[in-house]
Amino acid sequence: NLFGEASEGVVISRFGMHADVEDSAGEVHRCNIRRTIRSLVTGDRVVWRAAIGGGKGIVEAVHERKTVLTRPDFYDGVKPIAANIDQIIIVSAILPELSPNIIDRYLVASETLGVEPLLVLNKIDLLDGETRKLVDQQMDVYRHIGYRVLMVSSHAKDGLVELEQALTGRVSIFAGQSGVGKSSLLNNLLGLDVAGDEILTNDVSNVSGLGQHTTTASRLYHFPHGGDVIDSPGVREFGLWHLEPEQITRGFVEFREFLGSCRFRDCKHDNDPGCAIRAAVADGTIALARFENYHRILESMAQVKTRKNFSD
Ligand code: GDP
Ligand code: ZN
Repeated sequence: NLFGEASEGVVISRFGMHADVEDSAGEVHRCNIRRTIRSLVTGDRVVWRAAIGGGKGIVEAVHERKTVLTRPDFYDGVKPIAANIDQIIIVSAILPELSPNIIDRYLVASETLGVEPLLVLNKIDLLDGETRKLVDQQMDVYRHIGYRVLMVSSHAKDGLVELEQALTGRVSIFAGQSGVGKSSLLNNLLGLDVAGDEILTNDVSNVSGLGQHTTTASRLYHFPHGGDVIDSPGVREFGLWHLEPEQITRGFVEFREFLGSCRFRDCKHDNDPGCAIRAAVADGTIALARFENYHRILESMAQVKTRKNFSD
């Protein structure tokens, strides 16, 4: 095969032996992947060449990744699923339930990854004056430790302009519990009905044939107002994988300044005497809810680990 000149592109989807690469003019080219490339995922910046006379192009090299999102893999330990993400939109809602514990898990995962989180509370159309005040107080905990919080309604199209602005010029992912409104928000913001899992799945299986792991294939979409999103079912749940206790502690950003001040170096920040974190909780500097979630997350990770070791 003869190939044209090398140029820059972005992988907007990767499936099996192939990748769809978008050029700087926004045109998409199906490409084979050079064998020397060990890992290629949605969001990767690449050097590629088009085939002369049509047919599949070829991806020749991958640029270094700014960030990489991974998931656990039975064979490889972890497996990359998306690259070069700038921002994680952590979506929550009072329906099915407002779970600060899950928000905190996603925040820890964002901090571990080194990607900026943005908290989005959807379905505010369901809040009356009183509940809105309560929810706002819960969100103040996050505002106080430096996180940005947007209150939106996908249905009422409330707060979406602020969200659009936050998405512009960056590559984001949407994460959060099932049912909080991620699909609704994405469909709304993309102006298309492409963000549903079903459509994603069909899209991939139609072009790649049988036997693909279609449900985990992620895809990059452009927002009409600017900015990109990478989406797939796996991407949406990324933060709930296993984390080491050390990562969990570092992931609670407001704990950091106290960590050197505990009496014992191996302080578990539980009932240990002279714990600086506990003292900060007692005097109200650290929110009790965050402290409790910290221990809950640690416990749940320890349980996962025990179960895993047991079956080894
Ligand atoms: P996902 O699982 O996070 O993708 O959530 P979906 O987008 O599928 O939404 C779950 C349910 O919440 C659906 O019944 C939506 O119609 C509903 N929903 C989404 N956004 C809103 C909203 O802003 N207000 C209300 N009241 N319901 C919403
Ligand atoms: Zn301590």
